[in-house]
Amino acid sequence: MNKVILVTGASRGIGNNIAKTLAKENMVIANYNKSKNEAIKLKEDLQKENINIDIIKADVSNRSEVKEMIEQILKKYGRIDVLINNAGISQYKLFTDITDEEWDNIINVNLKSNFIVTQEVVKNMISRKSGLIINISSIWGVTGAAMEVAYSTSKAGIIGLTKSLAKELGPSNIRVNAIAPGMIDTSMNSKFSEEEIDDIKEEIPLERIGKPAEVTKCIKWLLEDTYTTGQVISINGGWNI
Ligand code: NAP
Repeated sequence: MNKVILVTGASRGIGNNIAKTLAKENMVIANYNKSKNEAIKLKEDLQKENINIDIIKADVSNRSEVKEMIEQILKKYGRIDVLINNAGISQYKLFTDITDEEWDNIINVNLKSNFIVTQEVVKNMISRKSGLIINISSIWGVTGAAMEVAYSTSKAGIIGLTKSLAKELGPSNIRVNAIAPGMIDTSMNSKFSEEEIDDIKEEIPLERIGKPAEVTKCIKWLLEDTYTTGQVISINGGWNI
């Protein structure tokens, strides 16, 4: 076991790839909420390769569920070296049609979750004067996106949180960075037709959308790095330069 790493939202998509890849050399705890079967499959697939991973359910926007999850992990491993705040949801809707409930849900799951999970984890990191936090923002948190105002707001909030926390936690030797992916091939983008995706590809200098593994590569680099903090790293094929 190298590092103890918690990945939120690891049942599907980007988080799943991060968990699967990092588990080869680290003790990974893969959080999920609704997709229990996918989380079990992740564990079973890795078991076939003699790789161990823990899966743990918690709604990351719910303080008591998160508290219990972190307590369980700390009881078992005594520390969390790396926290990857990846869980997220999206919504594609006209600003004028967004309800209060929808707004609150996006902000709670995408942004408040980072506050809650990080607060529960960071006490342990501060006492050990060591830690790495990686928050998954989005290109839309940097540039803003029409029809995705709530989502873009939550992802821009993650950037503010990342930069502020990097300043506050630097003296405790805790690095905090954000990754802002462009369009990555996961079910989050299943709302777009093939034709719409082709139109998007034309706007991207590398002429394709990204793969979850291409986000994971950056995370692997951040794990090795020792002097990067407070940064927003864009992985978007040049979509926004
Ligand atoms: P995805 O395939 O839809 O997967 C989302 C993951 O988040 C699932 O594992 C889901 O778990 C989890 N999740 C959602 N709500 C949760 C909650 N309340 N508590 C715990 N887990 C929860 O999405 P993705 O594309 O991999 O996105 C991962 C992250 O990257 C998100 O933050 C997203 O905003 C960001 N991102 C994605 C793209 C893209 O183009 N795909 C681009 C930029 C940024 P359950 O199913 O178990 O509930």
